[in-house]
Amino acid sequence: MSNPSLLILPGDGIGQEVMAEVRKIIDWFGENRDLKFDVSEDLVGGAAYDAHGTPLTDATMAKAQEVDAVLLGAVGGPKYDDLDFAVKPERGLLRLRKEMDLFSNLRPAQCFDALADFSSLKKDLVAGLDIMIVRELTSGSYFGEPRGIFTEDNQRVGINTQRYTESEIDRVARSAFELARRRNNKVCSMEKANVMESGILWRDVVTEVHQADYADVELSHMYADAGAMQLVRAPKQFDVILTDNLFGDLLSDTAAMLTGSLGMLPSASLGAPMENGRPKAMYEPVHGSAPDIMGQDKANPSACILSFAMALRYSFDEGDAATLLETAVEQVLAKGIRTGDLMQADGGTPVGCKAMGDAIIAELAAS
Ligand code: NAD
Repeated sequence: MSNPSLLILPGDGIGQEVMAEVRKIIDWFGENRDLKFDVSEDLVGGAAYDAHGTPLTDATMAKAQEVDAVLLGAVGGPKYDDLDFAVKPERGLLRLRKEMDLFSNLRPAQCFDALADFSSLKKDLVAGLDIMIVRELTSGSYFGEPRGIFTEDNQRVGINTQRYTESEIDRVARSAFELARRRNNKVCSMEKANVMESGILWRDVVTEVHQADYADVELSHMYADAGAMQLVRAPKQFDVILTDNLFGDLLSDTAAMLTGSLGMLPSASLGAPMENGRPKAMYEPVHGSAPDIMGQDKANPSACILSFAMALRYSFDEGDAATLLETAVEQVLAKGIRTGDLMQADGGTPVGCKAMGDAIIAELAAS
């Protein structure tokens, strides 16, 4: 049987530096755990624009559709700020998400004990926190029609439309319930059914899917504004939060910052199952290309490495390997080995991106 395939798209800025550390980890699993991947690498974002005049070539897009998972670093940078909208680096990323139809965006908010002091909340509220936000990614207010700025009665009117079909809600709800079954078996669905018809439909469909196929999972509903409040009041009450595109944008950023640094945050975007049963999938750190530190060996590779751990778990069913990798990251932090973004004002000397990757591999080797 052939190895599972991975397309690596490092992109721009620190994307290239953090991905180099992920490559080392992939090699380690191949050499030491007989977990081998067929890895190919290609260009996206500014790097693709420099080489081909487009942020994503058709050939790379076709490759992304064929592989078992895509791992992306980051795109963008000041060099590309003045480009036409159609060829900006971000368009490459958006094209991947759209054409792969990645409707379910998974954003974990996990607080490693060693970093509990980095949260803006009290340590006891966040220590041990482990929640997952499932955000619908391809519909809702950011895509609904009509949209635009129109003139009515001699003044401009800005219009966006919150629109969801039953099938769009159904498929992302299933994704959240499936995920909950691998975790603590709880889903809290958030919308505004008190004031929005799309929220009423959202609540109905989530309830129907639950009753039909996932009655073993504990389901609760919350209005999204109350959910935001609860997220900062008592975040540990949640396991999986299921929500739409707009509310998910806000709630996932809020939840993420409960845990400290951008350099620690992975994400996954999943689509429909392919013929081999694996979902279409792209994994990427939440952070951008960080032009302020690029090329200086200062980036924290953990977010990208933890994104690969998500790929192991959600695309390749290698939960044990994923846990091994996550534990290695946690142990490195517990030993006080930190990149600059994780240093306290009073604390020690930061290690560089490469040394952080090496320290994680040393922990893997010692496991
Ligand atoms: P950013 O995430 O690149 O950086 C924000 C701040 O966090 C910077 O100070 C940076 O040094 C720091 N930071 C980010 N990741 C880090 C890491 N791994 N280790 C250490 N420090 C880290 O966001 P920005 O500055 O707003 O955007 C820079 C460029 O990245 C822009 O062109 C933007 O469009 C692009 N961007 C891309 C993505 C993506 O590819 N998914 C996401 C966000 C921004």
